Amino acid sequence: KCSCYTPSEGYIRTSPFDPVAIPDLTLDRYVWENVNKWQNKIAATCIVTGRQYTYAQLRDRSAALALRLQEKFKLKPRDVLAICLPNIPEYPIAFLGSVEAGLTITTVNPMYTAEEIGRQLNNSNAQMVIGTVAGYQLLKDACKAANRRIPICCIKTHKNDSIPEGAVDFSEIIDPKHCDFSQLKPTGITIDDMVVLPYSSGTTGMPKGVMLSHKNITVNCEMTYTGSPYPPLLEDTTETVQEVCPGILPFFHIYGLSLIMLAKLKMGCKLVTMPRFNPDDLISTLYEQKASILYLVPPIILFLINSPKVQKKHMEHLKVVMSGAAPIGALDAERLVTKYPNVAFVQGYGMTETSPVIMMGHRGMTKYASVGFVTPNTEAKIASLDGENRIGLGPNAVGEVCVRGPQVMKGYLNNEEATKDIFLDGGWIRTGDVGYYDEEGYFFITDRMKELIKVKGFQVPPAELEELLRDHPKILDAAVLGVPHEKHGEVPRAFVVLRPNMQATEKEIQEFVEEKVAVYKKLDGGVKFLDDIPKSVAGKILRRELKEKYC
Ligand code: AMP
Repeated sequence: KCSCYTPSEGYIRTSPFDPVAIPDLTLDRYVWENVNKWQNKIAATCIVTGRQYTYAQLRDRSAALALRLQEKFKLKPRDVLAICLPNIPEYPIAFLGSVEAGLTITTVNPMYTAEEIGRQLNNSNAQMVIGTVAGYQLLKDACKAANRRIPICCIKTHKNDSIPEGAVDFSEIIDPKHCDFSQLKPTGITIDDMVVLPYSSGTTGMPKGVMLSHKNITVNCEMTYTGSPYPPLLEDTTETVQEVCPGILPFFHIYGLSLIMLAKLKMGCKLVTMPRFNPDDLISTLYEQKASILYLVPPIILFLINSPKVQKKHMEHLKVVMSGAAPIGALDAERLVTKYPNVAFVQGYGMTETSPVIMMGHRGMTKYASVGFVTPNTEAKIASLDGENRIGLGPNAVGEVCVRGPQVMKGYLNNEEATKDIFLDGGWIRTGDVGYYDEEGYFFITDRMKELIKVKGFQVPPAELEELLRDHPKILDAAVLGVPHEKHGEVPRAFVVLRPNMQATEKEIQEFVEEKVAVYKKLDGGVKFLDDIPKSVAGKILRRELKEKYC
């Protein structure tokens, strides 16, 4: 039932579950569809300060923001607004209010340096940015670096915060008092319009704007959870039940945004937002807030397994742990399940370009190394690595994972070449990951053939570090590769060729990079000095060769 063969395409796998209907709603309407059922329940609460909002409050503040963005800031449908926030309870207001105004949101990592943020603001052509009071100076520097004059709106996250001069006070523009909601202008936005513009380096090169439509996100929520044909992982909210989901993974990344923030608000869950990962906060959400589900990356799962701080009693409310964004060792997954037998463990697999989920495990499965079945409405093939035709291989054969489905992005913003490169004929998107499926249709991801390095689940595009290194006055050429790291999964290692008669130390190069990039992009894998970087005749770095020789 889930496998078909044609001579031109080879083998294609589909989901064992029935297709879901594509919601005919824009993302804001989709999330708020049932909000009246749980108006007075807490929607989002901050683990650090206790600041919180009910669903009714979140809803009317979002609408108030939409109105102000249209009326006061004159933002038009399809304009881009940047959100540069840690996980706080106001994130959904900023996001869903902007969506309601018809805008596209580019989600920015608040750990970025001013230069990194500035680049995204310019590339996305952002017309306004929302951040925190604490992050104001960084955003100001970013706008300066990018030579961009746009309003900077600040959220107070602590009692003593005051709005800096020149900044817009978020609390004023989300105040629903004196709002005439009938003045909200129709946006004319359809479900095929772009709504989110996260950045990803894809299979190669620098970070690019990933154009995700309303439909991409809503259908992916349907596939993976709400109304999903998978045995449900959680229950919808009722008078007496409300599931609790900690928001640990960043909402600026598609995994946190889609699977945690949007999908959980859609079903009336309580989000417990964590601005940064802190072991004690995690334990208190588990035990005091009675968390029902945890979406994690492998390094945090290792913490749950290894830390003496986490005890069985802390996990007694927990039903499911989902791991994604990076590979997890099967043995680690088994250790988790052995230590906490009441908790189901599943993996999710996908990427920013696919909104993100394309494969997901289900309750009761014991193939812990597997990322599960293909999601509904999605087709996958394991494309042969040899030859041009990229034919789909049969069970247990290893190749590149390629997929097709309604959650696949529209393309990269203003970058036709990169868009062309990531798609194969017939609408297949290449994941850049290597894997196979077994006779039962369970998929396994075994390697990554794309350049991307993942540190604690965060993207580190080698091209970005290579460009930086080549700017160093002593460096002639450079290549960056990921090397395995016990706690972080991978860390970047640089290979550099110095200019003639130049000398440099490893520390000097590491410090040069560290000053210019987000903290997780540092060269923690060290620096190796080489006489030359192996390259193809076309000038492409031969990463496999480098890896085999020096990693
Ligand atoms: P991102 O676009 O940041 O979500 O990164 C997507 C990439 O993360 C994928 O192409 C994989 O290389 C990796 N990834 C995500 N989930 C998994 C998983 N469950 N197992 C192995 N790798 C994963």
